[in-house]
Amino acid sequence: GRTTSTRVAVVGGSIGGMTAAGLLRDAGYQVDVYERSPGPLSGLGTGIVVQPELVRFLLERTTTTLEDISVPSSSMRYVDASSGALIGATDDSWRFTSYNALYHRLLENFGLERYHFSCNLERLVDHGDQVDLTFSSGETAQADLVVLADGGASAGRRQLLGITPEYAGYVTWRGLAELDALSASTRAFFDDTFTYGLLDDGHLIAYPIPVVDADGHTRRALNYQWYWNVPAGPELDELMTDRNGVRRPTSVHHHDLRPELLAEFHSRASERLTNTFVELLHAAEEPFVTVIADADVPQMRVGRCVLIGDAAVTPRPHAAAGGAKAAADAWALVAALTDGGDDLDEALNRWEAQQLPVGRAYLQKVRRMADVLQHGGSFTPGDPANRFGLPTVVAG
Ligand code: FAD
Repeated sequence: GRTTSTRVAVVGGSIGGMTAAGLLRDAGYQVDVYERSPGPLSGLGTGIVVQPELVRFLLERTTTTLEDISVPSSSMRYVDASSGALIGATDDSWRFTSYNALYHRLLENFGLERYHFSCNLERLVDHGDQVDLTFSSGETAQADLVVLADGGASAGRRQLLGITPEYAGYVTWRGLAELDALSASTRAFFDDTFTYGLLDDGHLIAYPIPVVDADGHTRRALNYQWYWNVPAGPELDELMTDRNGVRRPTSVHHHDLRPELLAEFHSRASERLTNTFVELLHAAEEPFVTVIADADVPQMRVGRCVLIGDAAVTPRPHAAAGGAKAAADAWALVAALTDGGDDLDEALNRWEAQQLPVGRAYLQKVRRMADVLQHGGSFTPGDPANRFGLPTVVAG
């Protein structure tokens, strides 16, 4: 049959790529993962809200349990971040994990033998029945099917569709605070809940995440984000210029931040936010800044190449399901490839027809949420339109 001899190249070894790689290998395909990074990836302590699709591979195909990789909360809280006034609260249970917790288990499961670091995809040539891949090192690979899981700045998407993400008009400051760096009252305020801090011109979120230390022990810490509206142009360029004068395209990591920028971050917090948030933001040791951008796509398949996760539709983060979308694309792809007959083209078309509407509807959802959250609109506690997760799309 097709599976034992079909060679699949997965480009990008993160959430989407590793989920696809694990599933395809389990289904009998010859799978190689090509990852740009020279070594294991680090999510810099970034929190991720658990959606069923996000963790499905680890729970169904490995010995990992939900408790191993996540911590629970029991409510969502909506606060005026400048006055501290409570706007509302709902009973709503979510679990939170971290990028590192997911990635390390996915990598451990797949192993390093066919996970190739330092492979930055530069060019694809599709011959119809085979695709040639060329990496920056000059090395090449051949595959019968290419799964492009190379994220929001996808080189594959740029080459195949000419699409790059568009700046959304705001950035996010992210950080992680240890619980014991906070007063008892601030700790109690943020733990066991997902907090929205609403402002007229932006918003904050905060929630607990698991942090795994070198001995494998897991502790809770508080992850936050503060979204600032920043017009494209000189103001954004200044914000994204690091201590060596280099204008960074996506993120300025903590150790590269200009000291005056960090000082502005702290002073703006003190001026604009109620004490509970100020304490949280000041307690984080290594805050860093990332631009928010998104991209829509008209298709997820070009010949023998498919785009999954952020490499297809790149969403803004507000409904906490970008990683889940990447994993869902992977599950659906493998289902389409293994369900039907031997017609690869038909299977890929069927997959695209199923997943493209999900990605595009999700993008509309997070753009609508951003319109409200970043511009002081009414963000009603418990509004189902703003509930985390992928939208349900009814096939037309
Ligand atoms: P990525 O995780 O971006 O991985 C792409 C991979 O491809 C990387 O490993 C990269 O190094 C590699 N790569 C890139 N270019 C090349 C190349 N040319 N050649 C080879 N390799 C390459 N999602 C959730 O589900 N829940 C959340 O709570 C959540 N919160 C978020 C908060 C923020 C602030 C942000 C920015 C995102 C958040 N997300 C969340 C989204 C989530 O992080 C992404 O949607 C998810 O990581 C997408 O997975 P992916 O595998 O498609 O791409």
